[in-house]
Amino acid sequence: MRVVLLGPPGAGKGTQAKRLTELYGVRHISTGDLFRSSVQQGTDLGRLAKTYMDRGELVPDEVTVRMLAEALRRAEGGGFILDGFPRTMAQAEALDRELVILDRPLQAALAFVIDDELAVKRIAGRRTCARCQHPYNVEPTRIAGVCDSCGGALLQRPDDAEETVRRRLEVYHHSTEPLLYFYAERGLLRPVDATGDEAEVTERAAAALRDLAPAAK
Ligand SMILES: [Zn+2]
Repeated sequence: MRVVLLGPPGAGKGTQAKRLTELYGVRHISTGDLFRSSVQQGTDLGRLAKTYMDRGELVPDEVTVRMLAEALRRAEGGGFILDGFPRTMAQAEALDRELVILDRPLQAALAFVIDDELAVKRIAGRRTCARCQHPYNVEPTRIAGVCDSCGGALLQRPDDAEETVRRRLEVYHHSTEPLLYFYAERGLLRPVDATGDEAEVTERAAAALRDLAPAAK
């Protein structure tokens, strides 16, 4: 199974990536983890990426794609679920070229679909206990603003503030949404309704991927 995951912030893409990789026993490749492990292992590409990050600059697509290719070669023919990449047309095209070289083309682009307002509601409602780091949503704590398990104060990450979420959604619509057409033209696009709880969304995703691989468990 060789799949990329697409979807706006708030669609639960990271969570679904973890659930699906467990379900199918394939590798979960997220660019965040890729950067961290390449830098930690001190590979040539990791060192190169670090020079950009240390200067506070974005790692160029070419470097990211080469890191990805390295990870895919290490995965040796096994399947993968790619999460967080590609985010732009240039990245999608670079990934395509690299996978052709590896003779392992994508089989599907799974796109989680969620309405902007629901995405904003989901993310802007996130809180984290300042003391024990337990994650919450604003609705269900017993005492508003207080951690159920340790009594600590619940805080909102600056990234999750409504204004920031709306800006992230704009970037998604502008830079990443064109990929839906890119993959649709190649016959790879499989949309999945991302509303409802995590298990429901995983079920829909698995149904959309049914022809590619039977679930491991
Ligand atoms: Zn707590």
